[in-house]
Amino acid sequence: MPTETLEFQVEARQLLQLMIHSVYSNKEVFLRELVSNASDALDKLRLEKLRDDTLDADVSDLHIEIDVDDDARTLTVRDNGIGMSYDEVGRLIGTIANSGTAQFMKELREAKDAAGEEGLIGQFGVGFYSGFMVADEVTLVTRRAGESQGTRWTSRGEDTYTLEPVDEAPQGTSVTLHLKPADPENQLHDYTSPWKIREIVKRYSDFITWPIRMETESSGDEDAARRPETLNSMKALWARSRDEVSDDEYHELYKHIAHDWRDPLETIRLQAEGTFEFQALLFLPAHAPHDLFTRDFKRGVQLYVKRVFIMDDCEALLPPYLRFVKGVVDAADLSLNVSREILQQDRHIEMMRRRLTKKVLSTVKDMMAKDPDRYAVFWREFGTVLKEGLVTDPENRDAILAVASFASTHHDTEPTTLKSYVERMKDGQDDIYYLTGESRQSIGNSPHMEAFRDRGIEVLLLTNPVDEVWADVVGEYDGKKLRSLAKGQIDLDAKDDATTAGEARQKKSEEYAGLLGWMKEQLEEDIKEVRLSSRLSVSPACVVSDGNDLTPALEDMYRAMGQ
Ligand code: ADP
Ligand code: MG
Repeated sequence: MPTETLEFQVEARQLLQLMIHSVYSNKEVFLRELVSNASDALDKLRLEKLRDDTLDADVSDLHIEIDVDDDARTLTVRDNGIGMSYDEVGRLIGTIANSGTAQFMKELREAKDAAGEEGLIGQFGVGFYSGFMVADEVTLVTRRAGESQGTRWTSRGEDTYTLEPVDEAPQGTSVTLHLKPADPENQLHDYTSPWKIREIVKRYSDFITWPIRMETESSGDEDAARRPETLNSMKALWARSRDEVSDDEYHELYKHIAHDWRDPLETIRLQAEGTFEFQALLFLPAHAPHDLFTRDFKRGVQLYVKRVFIMDDCEALLPPYLRFVKGVVDAADLSLNVSREILQQDRHIEMMRRRLTKKVLSTVKDMMAKDPDRYAVFWREFGTVLKEGLVTDPENRDAILAVASFASTHHDTEPTTLKSYVERMKDGQDDIYYLTGESRQSIGNSPHMEAFRDRGIEVLLLTNPVDEVWADVVGEYDGKKLRSLAKGQIDLDAKDDATTAGEARQKKSEEYAGLLGWMKEQLEEDIKEVRLSSRLSVSPACVVSDGNDLTPALEDMYRAMGQ
């Protein structure tokens, strides 16, 4: 097969251009990205071999190797992991994985406006392409474990890349960066220096569970034989005590696991002892990924058994509404070849899920008390997902309600918790009022709001489709009913002066009986009943639904879902 020259996908090309012309100061992270990919490839091979013993692959010495060649100015990162087939190389390296094209373009534009280039690079897990920050040409040679034919990929990061089959390729992948010319002004960025490489690996990849080796000359003796040195300590961070590990180290682990370039918002440690021992290191990201609400969002944390990686995206360990949480769970007593199906039904896993869920929610609660700004970021990014839990997880409903906050007429921009709402409730107010709608503004303009505004009664303004669902299901908070202004009869006067107001209304209803009856007849096809209301002050009339009916927005939602 001849060499193929192929074009990068449009978005990939844009990202590459960004890398090549990058002014991003922290260029050394390219090495972290290559090591991270190599580590993933080793994990995958180990697992595949575990599942399929007949796979023709050597797993006796899985490791990562870094090679520098001063004269040629190249740096190579090699692994003997799973490798890629010819098709996979084209698919995985020529495109930006996991990015809905339209969504990606949109974010690219928005991010560029908002954050400039540096912020932009920070927004995407650009992984492999980051090599182009320091190299003007990249070559990748790979052979998938079990296959005989290898593949060479090369690119100068411009519009195209080449692909060709190669006969002699070792199992796994090697990525060679042809480094840009040295900058005599800036020796600090000399990536051919073993000293520099050692420092970068220590800083970003120390926890990687596979050995990262580099051949170095023993100090003081120029002619000494080069011997491999293992650069990383390979210590599992989750198994070490809190005071042994720096925040930076935790953050680097997060970046490796989450394929995120940014620091996490919060790090959560949990060490469970007793009958079922496990350790967990979980992270709350600082940003919601754009595909959080898509069907194929990869959810869950990594599962290890006694330091051995078992699977990514282990969804059995956390409920769906915590699907954005990243991290590692290391269990002591599980079989190495547990399947997802078994995990779903395992009693111990169920216990772990409950512990982890409570721990995450209590962490958010602490954050709310101690660091309101950070909590606000969390809620802005993940509040919508968390609210799904109000419907699906009755056991933790109160814990979720405790960390939830909502827009309210109390303040133009600051959301309120239910607790503060209740503290502000007027004398004689028994219920918590809310109104759902598309936006704060459309709710504000609703005739339903008039009487509440006039009387200074606070109303929660819920603008998310999920709000109607949970508000309905939850029903009450702290013994107070959650009541939609758009549903059923709300008698604001009954409280002030029950008997007189009630009598007055009775009288009025009799007085207007003729009109009401006539209106009902005229509108028979569309409505059930016409009645006088105390809830309006300016608008002449409004439509409300029966207490048990769907509200209009919910009807829309179900209709949109095709039901
Ligand atoms: P990410 O790691 O976030 O998926 P990258 O750009 O770093 O994104 O890598 C893209 C894909 O290329 C990886 O998901 C993986 O499938 C493949 N890949 C990259 N490096 C290697 C490697 N050393 N061995 C096997 N596959 C690799
Ligand atoms: Mg990667």
